[in-house]
Amino acid sequence: NADTAVHQAKDDGRNNYAFYQPEQTQIIEQWVRLEPELRRALALDQFRVFYQPQIDAMTGQISGVEALVRWEHPENGLMSPGLFLPIIEEIGLMTQVGNWVLEQACAQASQWKDAGYPPFRIAVNLAGQQILSHGFVSVVKELLEKYEIEPDQLELEILENIVMKHADAAKPVLNELRTLGVRLALDDFGTGYSSLCYLKMLPVQKVKIDQSLVRDIPNDPDDEAIARAIIALSHSLNLSVCAEGVETEEQKAFLRGENCDQLQGYLISRPIPAAALSQWLDEHYDLIGKH
Ligand code: C2E
Ligand code: MG
Ligand code: MG
Ligand code: MG
Repeated sequence: NADTAVHQAKDDGRNNYAFYQPEQTQIIEQWVRLEPELRRALALDQFRVFYQPQIDAMTGQISGVEALVRWEHPENGLMSPGLFLPIIEEIGLMTQVGNWVLEQACAQASQWKDAGYPPFRIAVNLAGQQILSHGFVSVVKELLEKYEIEPDQLELEILENIVMKHADAAKPVLNELRTLGVRLALDDFGTGYSSLCYLKMLPVQKVKIDQSLVRDIPNDPDDEAIARAIIALSHSLNLSVCAEGVETEEQKAFLRGENCDQLQGYLISRPIPAAALSQWLDEHYDLIGKH
């Protein structure tokens, strides 16, 4: 159950959900060992969805939350998506797991609504396999109906390299999602190739500045210049901008000064379970019954 899972994952009593960290040399060995376990993980209900807030840079109000999957391994404890999603993709289970995350996020949005919170946006990451899977747009449409979620409350985050690799197949799907009214965000922006070109070609409404560009602000003038340019370019294309990986007050001040729209990062909150996020909302805002 989710409560014990959270308990085990807390390593020092703070809001610090520490990940299991294998030795580098163990990783191949791990893969072989984890594959059969991952095939059973969904049926055994071992995946968890954590949520990380995104705030409006100017007002500080909550603008949304990003859903991030974790694996509650029976012996290892909480495992990060970087460790197991590549295996999930390799064994062809990414659509199933990704759609499960999507449903959890929609169900959670509906619970927050029932609890009286004003509707903030729910962002969910999409994998390439998922975008290209048969009937994906119908899956999204049915989940929105089932959980009575306004399409523009859902934001799907895509990686440009995925879309670049399968542009012909992916673009029509993204256009259909837009027609549904769902929002699209380009994740990890600034790390791939052809970024500028894709900004123009894809039906996205938001750009997420990759955390690698935020990390060395204010010490690296090049990163500052790139972040500044991404914000200006996005705004001139009528796109909003969310900065990822905001960890310090200096980074926050810089990004606000550059008119970045939203901030996401450990400075605001780490990704945390839904119940902890409700508590975080209660502590930081006066939201319930206010809409
Ligand atoms: P992402 O979508 O770019 O998510 C942001 C990552 O940055 C998350 O890592 C988050 O925990 C981390 N992060 C947030 N704030 C900070 C910060 O201030 N400092 C630092 N150093 N890191 C921060 P996480 O949860 O390990 O996820 C890694 C990646 O795994 C995600 O990157 C996303 O690409 C992928 N992922 C996670 N959940 C899903 C999912 O449900 N479906 C798919 N397809 N991919 C997912
Ligand atoms: Mg993301
Ligand atoms: Mg990202
Ligand atoms: Mg990333």
